[in-house]
Amino acid sequence: MVSAAGLSQRVARLSPSATLSISALAKAMQAEGLDVCILSAGEPDFDTPEHIRAAAIRALQEGKTRYGPTAGIPALRQAVADKLRRENGLDYSPEQILISNGGKQTLFNLAMVLLDPGDEVILPVPYWVSYPEMVALAGAQVVRVQTQEAQGFKLTADQLRQALTPRSKLLILNSPANPTGAVYHRHELEALAEVILSVPHLYVVCDEIYEKLVYGEARHLSLGSLSPELLPRTILSSGFAKAYAMTGWRIGYLAGPKPIVEAAISLQSHSTSNVCTFAQYGALEALTSPLSAPAVEKMRQEFWRRRDLMLEGIRTLPKVSCPEPEGAFYIFLNISQTGLSSVEFCQRLLKEHHVAAVPGVAFGADHCIRLSYAADRVTLEKGLERLHRFLSSL
Ligand code: PLP
Repeated sequence: MVSAAGLSQRVARLSPSATLSISALAKAMQAEGLDVCILSAGEPDFDTPEHIRAAAIRALQEGKTRYGPTAGIPALRQAVADKLRRENGLDYSPEQILISNGGKQTLFNLAMVLLDPGDEVILPVPYWVSYPEMVALAGAQVVRVQTQEAQGFKLTADQLRQALTPRSKLLILNSPANPTGAVYHRHELEALAEVILSVPHLYVVCDEIYEKLVYGEARHLSLGSLSPELLPRTILSSGFAKAYAMTGWRIGYLAGPKPIVEAAISLQSHSTSNVCTFAQYGALEALTSPLSAPAVEKMRQEFWRRRDLMLEGIRTLPKVSCPEPEGAFYIFLNISQTGLSSVEFCQRLLKEHHVAAVPGVAFGADHCIRLSYAADRVTLEKGLERLHRFLSSL
């Protein structure tokens, strides 16, 4: 069947990214001169650390401007493998690494190489906006599993067991999570691992792009490091955007079993080929320079302070609640007591009080909204005051 606009059925069902569109509207209001508190951003508000930028400039000046190998420059694949062994306890060879245009392309590649029509993908709700769209583009079926606020929005082993069918092909786990900030602890991952290993045909995509941003007692743990049997069942997706404030650079990577990585390289060779060559030298610097750890730690400490500032402010707000997020830079606020849908809430908040937040419906949870604290503390405080005024008026 041909749509009126000539579009394929594949894209006719796609919805544009709600997170990007609300930010665009808020930025347009700012451009009109309005004082808008943008609490909808999905990116760090810091600049890429200086030494990383300098490395990319150097690469450019040295003429690193040509096509490179599709899978990434060998030094960067090696550096990612070294990082995963050193920091995550994951044993991958450089041939098991693929450098892609952001975590987004990594995940898209995976959807294309792993899924067939009829396959089921288990997706804990709330989820990051692009997962269900990628699964749908691959023709597979999303099986949504509602997680509970009381359980910190984390999938339990029982919930996973109940969602399994003979068609289950993939589980997508995102920790630290967007939009909830949830971080899976060791005992929670171990309980999930037991279920995963009991099903021989199930793979797990672990989206660990926020791994560097964890607070308090929380520690990031890679599922694949829990046992040697798990490693061949997990595919790790990550990137440089959130940890190193490199969102615009578009560099992500996957690590996984060789046949899967080789298929993804082949797919990428026919779509985008290699990631911008000189940008990869910046990523290499991020992974290998001793200057990176202190730069990342400085940003993490600031995010942590802002998270605490937000939580303190939220405790004084009427009609809302949230579990304490342990990672990423988001707070997922339950607004069900207001009686408004998440879209009505966010539209009124933006139009009447000039605060941009993302409706939870984009993440599969219409009773919540997502607040990002990737904004300076003055903006956060102002945003909290305005939220207070709005909520008190309802
Ligand atoms: N995964 C999650 C959970 C994200 O929040 C994002 C970006 O917002 C991505 C992946 C994609 O990141 P990238 O900018 O590297 O494509």
